[in-house]
Amino acid sequence: MRPFRYTKARSLAEAVQAVAAGGPDTRYLAGGTTLYDMMKLGIEKPTALVDITGIGELEGIAVSRAEILLGALARMSDVAAHRTIMRDYPMLSESLGKAASQQLRNMATIGGNLLQRTRCAYFRFGEPFACNKRAPGSGCSAIDGIDRPLALLGTSGACIANYPGDFAVALVALDAQVDVLGPAGTRSISIERFFREPGDTPHIETALAAGELITRVRIPATRLGRASTFHKIRDRESYAFALTSAAVALELDGDTVREARIAVGGVASRPWRMREAERALIGSKLTPETGHAAGELAMRSAKAGRHNGFRKELAARTIADALMIAKERA
Ligand SMILES: Cc1cc2nc3c(=O)[nH]c(=O)nc-3n(C[C@H](O)[C@H](O)[C@H](O)COP(=O)(O)OP(=O)(O)OC[C@H]3O[C@@H](n4cnc5c(N)ncnc54)[C@H](O)[C@@H]3O)c2cc1C
Repeated sequence: MRPFRYTKARSLAEAVQAVAAGGPDTRYLAGGTTLYDMMKLGIEKPTALVDITGIGELEGIAVSRAEILLGALARMSDVAAHRTIMRDYPMLSESLGKAASQQLRNMATIGGNLLQRTRCAYFRFGEPFACNKRAPGSGCSAIDGIDRPLALLGTSGACIANYPGDFAVALVALDAQVDVLGPAGTRSISIERFFREPGDTPHIETALAAGELITRVRIPATRLGRASTFHKIRDRESYAFALTSAAVALELDGDTVREARIAVGGVASRPWRMREAERALIGSKLTPETGHAAGELAMRSAKAGRHNGFRKELAARTIADALMIAKERA
């Protein structure tokens, strides 16, 4: 274990100041469930950690007629079990409840959840594998490797890693905003622009500037929330990352779709909104057949690699099944 400095910040200003003063290898520490893992693997080598868990302003879950406010330190388990969220936005509750294990969810926070990094084995297990995300310019062993769990959408010649998180997929479907505070002040980033595709710089994963702290996530209230679901397909039914996932929310008039939101996870370099498929559904009757057609349309541009082609059809079916689950709740 490499030595590092540890400080516990007592206020937002103190946290941001401490990270700015600590330099580029200083990290915020929330639940630690991913950061400590990355440190043990030798991928993260922070010189200092700034513990934010004592900052009361980062706590809290508030649901109003206008929006849902989730403090960055809200625990995954608390948000998943929040009664109003479970009733009015099952998609949010399910995306958190189906992630990781109960023990992890009790420690892990909303802010840290967004910033988890890919589970691509070539990234995580270091040398002897080349990885442009871990060591920019070193190459990508995954492209000619075992790509079964990796991305089919939003990849580049430099990286085919997928974004592993579940919650951000539901947030993309619901047009959430991420509020941040940094050395230059506060700003709000739409969740869709928060995550970057790899391009030539796969090591730059989000729109966060150096030292910026996520303070909260804001989700606009929507009547689509109730008829929603997060459908996750994985190799085991618990404690596993998604092979594919679909976050779907609907507004129906009888069987006819008035509005639809569809986002997919597991299969792309970032949470991926499926706007063309959403538009195609509007005005049509939702049946298993039209749902499957929407899933196929959504995945039409997916680029399969050597071992992951089956996940293109799997994702289409995941979307189709999610549409039928959401319809049942309308
Ligand atoms: C075995 C295992 C299985 C898992 N399975 C799943 C799964 O199926 N689905 C899923 O979605 N997730 C899964 N996870 C990931 C889990 O959800 C994350 O580890 C957790 O949400 C991270 O939250 P944390 O508070 O512990 O973050 P930390 O580990 O404390 O931090 C993670 C990163 O975020 C940064 N950070 C934390 N908070 C802030 C903030 N407010 N502002 C700026 N930066 C911040 C830290 O500096 C660090 O870089 C799994 C994790 C493990 C270990």
